[in-house]
Amino acid sequence: MRRPVVAGNWKMHGTRGWIEQWLRDWLPQLDSRAELIVLPPAGYLGLVRAGLDGHAVVVGAQNVHAEPAGAYTGEISAEMVRDLGAQVVLVGHSERRGHFGETDEIVAAKVVAAHRAGLRPVLCVGESLDERRRGDAEQVVLRQVESVVRLAGWERLDRAMIAYEPVWAIGTGETALPADAQHMHATIRGWLGREAPELARRMPILYGGSVKASNAKALFAEPDVDGGLVGGASLDAREFALICNAV
Ligand code: PEP
Repeated sequence: MRRPVVAGNWKMHGTRGWIEQWLRDWLPQLDSRAELIVLPPAGYLGLVRAGLDGHAVVVGAQNVHAEPAGAYTGEISAEMVRDLGAQVVLVGHSERRGHFGETDEIVAAKVVAAHRAGLRPVLCVGESLDERRRGDAEQVVLRQVESVVRLAGWERLDRAMIAYEPVWAIGTGETALPADAQHMHATIRGWLGREAPELARRMPILYGGSVKASNAKALFAEPDVDGGLVGGASLDAREFALICNAV
């Protein structure tokens, strides 16, 4: 009943010429029943949206500021990325939490902003290696989800997706075992289901962390893994098409 989703997060990569070539390489190789999302750097949202005209692919932003407008030099709002064609936005990516000090409060404010602007938030959560080694992974992840639910409110998450991205697996080549990913996804869905059973049943929970063509099929085969959030491997159009087609 949940349609799988595959999203490609380009992070801070790409230039006009590279993007045009990537689209030429990627689009003809697609044969996927997943909802597909491309997340370019904000300055290229319009270019990517135009390049995807006529294709059933959603464009999303990697980040937004919580305020709609104001004296926040260098920032971009949810309303602005929506205006540029984005329909989805990542919130709480571990690189934002780690490099830019984003707390659960900031993440929740961005979920509120996404809702206000009509964007679907993809709430990223995940534990560090130390937290996993200490046996705290589930507690950390559920605390991240719960904080956002409490601060932003269930209604702001009505159209949201969650991306479970163990921090130790992002950009490292290390991937969670499919059974471990399934366990965490089922734990998150179980927690959501205690208060919002209908939402829990329909909310896509994506796995992220060194997804590649070689491991995508096994991960996506797990019943609570509804697709993937793909970083590094999405920069290679051929590899990313194989991941999209693995659904
Ligand atoms: C990401 O950026 O969300 C991600 C999962 O990166 P990678 O696939 O490179 O680990």
